Formats: sequence, structure tokens, C-alpha cells
Amino acid sequence: MQNSTYFIDLESRYGAHNYHPIPVVIARARGAEMWDVEGRKYFDFLSGYSAVNQGHCHPHIIKALTEQASTLTLTSRAFYNDRLGEFERYITGLLGYDKLLPMNTGAEAVETGIKLARRWAYDVKGIAENKARIIVCTENFHGRTSTIISFSTDPSSQAKFGPYMPGFDIVPYNDLDGLAKALDNKDVAAFLVEPIQGEAGIVIPDKGYLSKAKQLCEEANVLFIADEIQTGLCRTGRMLCCDHENVKPDILLLGKALSGGTFPVSAVLSSDEIMLTIKPGEHGSTFGGSPLASVVAMASLQVLVAENLAENAVNMGILLRKGLEEIKSPYISEIRGMGLMNAIVVDHTDPQAAWRLCETFMQNGLLAKPTHGDKIRLAPPLVITAEQVKMALDIIRKSLHCLAQ
Ligand code: PLP
Repeated sequence: MQNSTYFIDLESRYGAHNYHPIPVVIARARGAEMWDVEGRKYFDFLSGYSAVNQGHCHPHIIKALTEQASTLTLTSRAFYNDRLGEFERYITGLLGYDKLLPMNTGAEAVETGIKLARRWAYDVKGIAENKARIIVCTENFHGRTSTIISFSTDPSSQAKFGPYMPGFDIVPYNDLDGLAKALDNKDVAAFLVEPIQGEAGIVIPDKGYLSKAKQLCEEANVLFIADEIQTGLCRTGRMLCCDHENVKPDILLLGKALSGGTFPVSAVLSSDEIMLTIKPGEHGSTFGGSPLASVVAMASLQVLVAENLAENAVNMGILLRKGLEEIKSPYISEIRGMGLMNAIVVDHTDPQAAWRLCETFMQNGLLAKPTHGDKIRLAPPLVITAEQVKMALDIIRKSLHCLAQ
């Protein structure tokens, strides 16, 4: 049997070097646990960047996936299929929207949101063509397409990928005055925001930021687009992170856990007024809304509801943050999070400390990855149990000793 080194060398030799993985090779996973090719077990504290909220290989999702896969996978949207409409009715009913536009990856959902907002701006708001502007935030992460990285403030996402797409205004995150100033422009179509900034290192805005931002947008006749691709689907302890502040986005973007981590399924939800501005032939995707994607997404949502995963995220999140605080490590300067979307900030003279800590986590049976150098996201699948959280905390406590050297 081939060992981890073999597979790591293969990827290094034949794959693009656009990622820097933790040196572990996973061969199978179930619930909140994963096993490497040598058979060692780990707790998964990344959840495929929050795509595996329902836990790895959830039986209900895998059953729906395999049954549909052997019946009908793809028709393209040139023909109707007998699954998409049922899914559209289910998700719009569950989340309270008029219509769904199905896509595949998160970045495609964001692109769709941008296109929808621009079209609405020209057809409904009356902005002159090609003048529509979209407000975004500093430290945003919305994906990797050339339009999206055009408004990134992270040089590693943006540098040397220009020329960049115009039409975006960047305001500081969690700054209502900055937003109000930017909204004072009749050409603004939309405000695109992450309710919690995930890739930036779990940056949680002040209480009231989202609801006040929504109100400012309403007053300016500007669409509020929530990118809930990472925060949504029970991750923060509510179905949507915006639910914490009773905010209903005009355009809602979902992805990741919409398929329970099986394959890319994303969604854009909105009202008739906004959604029907896009006419047949003006936007689409070969795979978006396939019968397979429709069935898998519906099963993935059903699991979140049936298993009360929002509630488990709240309870396990409290347990995790309390346990982290009790460790009282001099190397942790901050513990923050909501539900099971958490991070620790590593405080150390060695700039590689967070990476070394993640390697030690790995050696001790827990998988996590640093983001932006010194932050480590702790975001296990929402099916994690109290006993598993306690075992994970023991691993974290034990691993922190590596930073004493
Ligand atoms: N939006 C947010 C908030 C994300 O966290 C991500 C991915 O991490 C994306 C969009 C892009 O999703 P995808 O990688 O599926 O294109």
C-alpha cells in the first residue's frame, strides 16, 4: 500500500502549487472524524472550509446522492427535470424567498449576485448603463474569479492578476459611517458583505452592524447582498448568520454546506422583483440546477433541520470556547467565534508559530489550518458531540506545549 509521502510527492510533481496543505493524506471520513492513508484518526476542525456542516458522508445525503446518480444526473437547463422544481419550492419555502437561481461554486453565486444587482440597478432603480457601483468591505473574501479578486484587499489574492474589473467601492468592515458615506452616491446598486468574515480569520462585526447596514441600504434604495457561503446553513448557530439580527438580505448567497460537502452546489435567492430582471439566455450554468444537485441540496438542508444542527452548533460552540479559555495559554491572545465558527489568535515571536501548532495538532490527531498567518480556524462539522469536543480540547491543550520551544 502507498504511504502519505507517496501521495504528497504525486501532488507536488503533477499538480499546480496553488495550495500549501498540512502534510496529511486523508483516505476516508465519517461525521466529525477523518482517517489518513496509514489509518490514523483525526478530528476534522476545518470541515472542508465549512462545506461539511452535516458531517462527512452523512447517510441521508449519500443515499439521496447515490440513488439519484443511478437514475438521472444531468439534463442541462435546455430541458426541464423532475427534481429542480421540488428543490426550488423547498428552499424558497424554508428560507422565505420568492425564487432560486442555482449555480455550482460559491464564487459563481457571488458572480451571479453581482450580475443580478447590476441588472436590477439598470432595469428597476434606473442607474445609467455601465455606471452601477457595488460597495464591498476591506479584508473580504468572496472567491477567486477575476471579477471577485478585483475588489480583494489581500495582495496574495490580487497581485499580478490584473487588469481588474471596475465598479467596486471598498469601505472598512464593521464601519457604519464609512458605509453611509459610500451609500451617498445615486449610482450604488448594492452592498456585498460577509456577516462574519471567515477567511479574514473569523472577524465578527459589532452587534447591530448588520441590521443598521441593512437599514442604511434600504434608505438609499440599495440592495443588501449577504454572502452566507461560509456563515450560512447553521454554522453560526442559526440557519443564516443574518438571522441573529433579524436581517433578511435582498440577495442571499449560499454554497459549501448546501451539498453537505459532496460536490459543488451553490444558490442565489431573491425576490421576484430582482430575480425576474434576468431573462432566458442571459445567465446560466451547464451543471447548475441539475437533478443530482437538486436532490443532494434538498437532502443536505433536510439534515440541518431534522438534526437541529443550529442548536448543536450553539451548544458545542459554547463548550469549545469555554474549554479554550480554561486552557489559559500564554500563546493564545484571543478566542472568538459564534456557534461552531471559531478562531484562536496565536501570539508568539515566531511568525511560523500557528503553522507549527497546526502540525502538532496533526501529530496529536486534530486537523486545522492557519489563516492570515496567526489565526487558526476551529470549525468542526456541526454533528460533533460534547465528548468529541472534550477530546479535541485535550489535543489542543497538549499541543500548545510545542510553542514553549
Ligand atoms: N464566499 C465566502 C464567504 C467564502 O468563504 C468562499 C470560500 O471560502 C467563497 C465565497 C467562494 O466559494 P468557492 O470556493 O466555492 O468558490
